[in-house]
Amino acid sequence: MIGYERLAQRALTGEAPGRDEAAALLDDPEVGLLRLVDAAFAPRLKHFGRKVMVHVLNNVQNGLCPEDCGYCAQNRDSKSAIRQYPMKTPESILEEAEQAAKAGASRYCMVLSGRGPTLAYTRRLAEVISEVKRRFPVEVCLSAGLVDREKAEILAQAGLDRLNHNLNTSERHYAEVCSTHTYADRVATLEAARASGLDTCSGLIMGMGEETEDLVEVAFRLRELEVPSIPVNFLIPIDGNQVAEDGSLTPERCLRGLCMMRLVNPSAEIRIAGGREGNLRTLQPLALYPANSLFIEGYLTTRGDTADETYSMIRDAGFEIDGNELYDATRKDGLDARHEAASDAVRDASHDAPADASSQSRFRIPGGGDQLLKPEIARPER
Ligand code: SF4
Repeated sequence: MIGYERLAQRALTGEAPGRDEAAALLDDPEVGLLRLVDAAFAPRLKHFGRKVMVHVLNNVQNGLCPEDCGYCAQNRDSKSAIRQYPMKTPESILEEAEQAAKAGASRYCMVLSGRGPTLAYTRRLAEVISEVKRRFPVEVCLSAGLVDREKAEILAQAGLDRLNHNLNTSERHYAEVCSTHTYADRVATLEAARASGLDTCSGLIMGMGEETEDLVEVAFRLRELEVPSIPVNFLIPIDGNQVAEDGSLTPERCLRGLCMMRLVNPSAEIRIAGGREGNLRTLQPLALYPANSLFIEGYLTTRGDTADETYSMIRDAGFEIDGNELYDATRKDGLDARHEAASDAVRDASHDAPADASSQSRFRIPGGGDQLLKPEIARPER
């Protein structure tokens, strides 16, 4: 029998539940969902109050990837109809960073497809990052694949705040989702980032055919690596990809996964990441109790809820948006101006076309009808 108060008290002192307990939070029908959500809310409230951090993703390079991550629309074997393009121009990235700041994003996340940048490419990225930091009041995150110590230091010196590289699943399960690089490669990237003084961001994808033990394992691995920012993605299935929908992702399991992640990593920024709309569905507001951040306006190759839908959900649930100064400055003009800016930002950053607009489902893709739902496209983060 789970002691909810004890679970919350331990999290408040930074202590994790036992691994068996963590597994029970996901699987045991005796663990009451609302009592679990309440227990997970205690450390969330202690570390983040009722604030919700808002992130905007910019896919600054799409497709053209030699890797075979089986969940990703950009992988070398994927048949999904994404638009492929090399790195956007610095001007275009700066413009999109400005729009993200105007939209109230506290963080601007630049994401590049590919195994990892060369040294020369890293230097180009560093120049852009430094200019974004000089011009706009946003924290800058980068997701660029495998990065070694030398490259991480170049990025840190440019002012990068965080480097993202998701572990995605457990070490045991990793070979089933990718064969072109190893789990150890991913861990090494996080270690290089930390050693260079960068904050790390690393999370997982639920629903890739993993066992409960794999979810518990990755949650504890992230704790051991002291990762301060953990995106929890929910698989968006892509027709023809190696990783298929495994049928495990009910809204309740997604919510339990977020609670488990919060209780194992009590002080981390837990992000409701890709696939929240189609997988959590009507339970999305409850997810704000264990989690304290989310993306607005979609992901890398998938459209999500609009900024106004997301802001309304946050306010209706009694939470506040933790935006930047520009966001506060626009607040006097009401939500509309902010929403307009957010919509513009994302419209400009969306380059993917729907492969087939004929079948509708619970997932949104860009292009065509604005509210079209379809399950083609990809994972938000690498
Ligand atoms: S997750 Fe990243 S490295 Fe893997 S296939 Fe997609 S773009 Fe390439």
